[in-house]
Amino acid sequence: MTSPSWNRRSFLTGSAALLSQLATSAAAEPPAATAAAPFRNPNVYRFQIGDIEAFSISDGHSLIRPAMGMMHPESDRPQMQAVMESHFERLDGIPLYVNILVLRKGKEVAVFDAGFGKWPNPNWGWFFEALASVGIQRGDVTAAFLSHAHIDHIAGFVTDNAITFPNAQFYCTQEELDFWFSPEPDFSKSKRDKRELPGLTRDNRKRFEILKPVTQVLKDGSSVWNGDIRLELAPGHTAGHAIFHIQSKGEKLLHIMDLAHHHLLMFANVNWTIAFDHDPELAVVTRKKVYGRALTEKTRLYGFHLPWPGLGHLGSTAADSYVWIPERYSWGS
Ligand SMILES: [Zn+2]
Repeated sequence: MTSPSWNRRSFLTGSAALLSQLATSAAAEPPAATAAAPFRNPNVYRFQIGDIEAFSISDGHSLIRPAMGMMHPESDRPQMQAVMESHFERLDGIPLYVNILVLRKGKEVAVFDAGFGKWPNPNWGWFFEALASVGIQRGDVTAAFLSHAHIDHIAGFVTDNAITFPNAQFYCTQEELDFWFSPEPDFSKSKRDKRELPGLTRDNRKRFEILKPVTQVLKDGSSVWNGDIRLELAPGHTAGHAIFHIQSKGEKLLHIMDLAHHHLLMFANVNWTIAFDHDPELAVVTRKKVYGRALTEKTRLYGFHLPWPGLGHLGSTAADSYVWIPERYSWGS
């Protein structure tokens, strides 16, 4: 028999070296993704819109309870429950994803809503760590867009009573500012728990005051980034609720923000609304308008509260009834 070409000593020496090499690489920072190096970050979904690099970053998740108790009209709850059951969805609460869209083009970085920020809840506020993991620091952000001032959208723009993104212009609608600063914000049509509203109003006024020096109001149809980003007023969820059209080199994405809070309920019947809507009737009118257009134009959509990474298209099976067709996680080329 011939003896093996390696001996025990060289094997041990070699494995020790390998272990030490593994330990060193585990401690080191992961290499930044470049065109040459593949993107390996399971917490961040990277995709392209023309020549804009886009990231979908999860800020965490919530479970809204009571599930059907948040949905209206109340008389339709048995049908809502049937839709959920037929899709094997959990019924103890409505899972709410929190997806944050980030765009990068050259030295410009745009963030669309900033999530919960620092919050004493381990399921929230994952955004900033994930943002840093793709090499974007807070000071790199140049444009901060607000869709509306509910805490899962606005809270992250202010950290420890200071502006989170020190070099960013902050964009929102005048309608949203007017609502929160009116002497008595009108929640009369909303089905949400009224006990939360004074605190919510007070906190939002404080946040807007902090952001005031960098605030720029955008009107319906206004665009920035040389026309690559256009705001559309989409009222109902709140008075100044905004959605965002993004385009580059013929490719388009429409960020529908809070037109949908669930991938079944706000599509199976567009007349179904959630208690968080300030004006549910107007929210339905807006949803019908935007969905109808997106279906006709086959628009690629992105949803703040849809299952991560939140990209998809619309299908339709009947009047006022749609199907969310999600894009599957894809590793690209
Ligand atoms: Zn929301």
